[in-house]
Amino acid sequence: MVFRRRLFGVAILFLMMGGMLPDVDGGNGLWAAATADRPPPDITLRRSDVVFMYDNPAKYEPYGCTVMGWAGHGDAKRVAEAHAKGVRLFATSIGFRTEGRGVIDFTEKFLDAACYDLDAKPITVPWLWDHKYKGHPYYWWCTNSPEFRRYLEHRLQQAMSAGPDGLHIDDYTGTAGCVTWLGGCFCRHCMAGFRQYLAQQTTPETQQTLAKLGITDLTHFDYGEFLRSRGVQRDEYLKRRWAMPLAREFLDFQMKANTQFVVEFRRQAEKLRGRPMAFCVNSGLSSPEALAIAPHLTYFCCEVDHQAAKGQLPGHPIYVYKLADGLGRPVASTASGYDWSFVHEHKKEGLVRLWIALSYAMGHNFMAPHRQWCYTQEKGTHWYDGPDEAYAWVYQFVRRQARLLDGYEAVAPVAVLYDNAARRQGRANIEPICIRLAELNIPFTVVVQGDDWLEGYQVRPEKLAGFRAVIVPKDHPVLAEKNLRAENFSRLGCRSERFGRWGWRRLGCGRFGRLGTGWWRSGRRGFDWRRCGGRRFDCRRFAGWPERAAPLAGGPAKGRSPGRLAGPGRLGKIVAPTHPGSGQ
Ligand SMILES: [Zn+2]
Repeated sequence: MVFRRRLFGVAILFLMMGGMLPDVDGGNGLWAAATADRPPPDITLRRSDVVFMYDNPAKYEPYGCTVMGWAGHGDAKRVAEAHAKGVRLFATSIGFRTEGRGVIDFTEKFLDAACYDLDAKPITVPWLWDHKYKGHPYYWWCTNSPEFRRYLEHRLQQAMSAGPDGLHIDDYTGTAGCVTWLGGCFCRHCMAGFRQYLAQQTTPETQQTLAKLGITDLTHFDYGEFLRSRGVQRDEYLKRRWAMPLAREFLDFQMKANTQFVVEFRRQAEKLRGRPMAFCVNSGLSSPEALAIAPHLTYFCCEVDHQAAKGQLPGHPIYVYKLADGLGRPVASTASGYDWSFVHEHKKEGLVRLWIALSYAMGHNFMAPHRQWCYTQEKGTHWYDGPDEAYAWVYQFVRRQARLLDGYEAVAPVAVLYDNAARRQGRANIEPICIRLAELNIPFTVVVQGDDWLEGYQVRPEKLAGFRAVIVPKDHPVLAEKNLRAENFSRLGCRSERFGRWGWRRLGCGRFGRLGTGWWRSGRRGFDWRRCGGRRFDCRRFAGWPERAAPLAGGPAKGRSPGRLAGPGRLGKIVAPTHPGSGQ
């Protein structure tokens, strides 16, 4: 057992440090990732933090807990006890969907707090189908309802009176989270809000849309009525929501209304607490809807799909961690309810240790799994109590090696462009590119181009200056255009005049975009060079680089799993010191 633990220690060290990047550019040294600014260190995660999801004072010491990240017990004595035991950041959680009992007990008008579908039926939370209270199912509460907001304000006062250091929100997407999935919400509060939203839209596009639909007077406009008058009912709406008139505007309204509400909720928490606080939500970063809150967080504290049933190192978390780097927000992750159910049933402790190692190797923090929520459609909610002897020593290892983790940034000579506007069109998915780069042991980071949902992220040429290449998915709208124009490139932060049309295609989407087709293994050499962000990029030299960059892994080979490639290779390198004052 001791030998196995030592072996694991050596393996995790390899993951963290084994990939120290040799000087691949013949003298230019290392490139630090040009990621977004991180929040102030005292209200966010450190790379060596051991984060708990559920509170348990008896386990602080065995695991070396430093952050109570999610559901800290909401009483002042517990907070003080945690601080005394070395927990530096103690967050407590409020659930927007899981507090069915609380809302029903709080107000007799709880049905006025629920979300409603187009047939005027209250929407229930699908994964809480086995929960009932006072004869009622667990409703999906509407964050636009004043009654539900009153309940949340009450909960916030209650939570803040215990004096926590942070606030966590579970299911923070509120009403916006049921628009595309469950066809919500058509309650009277949402209808009033949407009416107001439309009245404030002054863009010619929206005005034209309204005129075409014959909507000239918004005073009494009710979107639900409007759809029903056209013969649309719930089932058809669910199937063809995206094709309905004003569908785009309705989603936009719900998204912005929710983000605004959550931001205000955070402000209120800080006001009650009288100081800046850690703020995190359960958002898995898996869609533009899940990212809108990112600028306002100090860290993500969330469920991430780990594809447990595949029994190998999962690719999805790699994408999540890299995207989070691009957003400048650390991730305290856990696996999904399905994953934990699988681990519970098949006793896959080694797999969980792999997830833990992956997260720390990539500079993030997988939460200590001493208690986990499990879920399957058949079994509903059940629980996994992770045995201490299986996991505690891994976290103790992390605490002992804190100096190897804190204050470092991942080396990234390559950037992958995430464009939120393109993702909202269902294009330019960078997940397969990120996973493929990890398989090839090419160190990279993600640069983020925001939009009116994801504010404050702008790719600029100077941000790209340190990268040898920027990878843009081949179906990115700009690249897919026949006649490329200068302003489109500048939108991506690149200087258009330096790009030839074909060069960009080869570089940005052609050769790189086809990662996975075997081009890297083919030994073919590119012949074009272009500038990106002012730095010369030589395709010929770059083409030979992955082979040289992956000697420990034996180079990328067909049929090898990401896990095997990543093992002794260069996944999640954390080697270049953070430059103080550089904003990284
Ligand atoms: Zn509503």
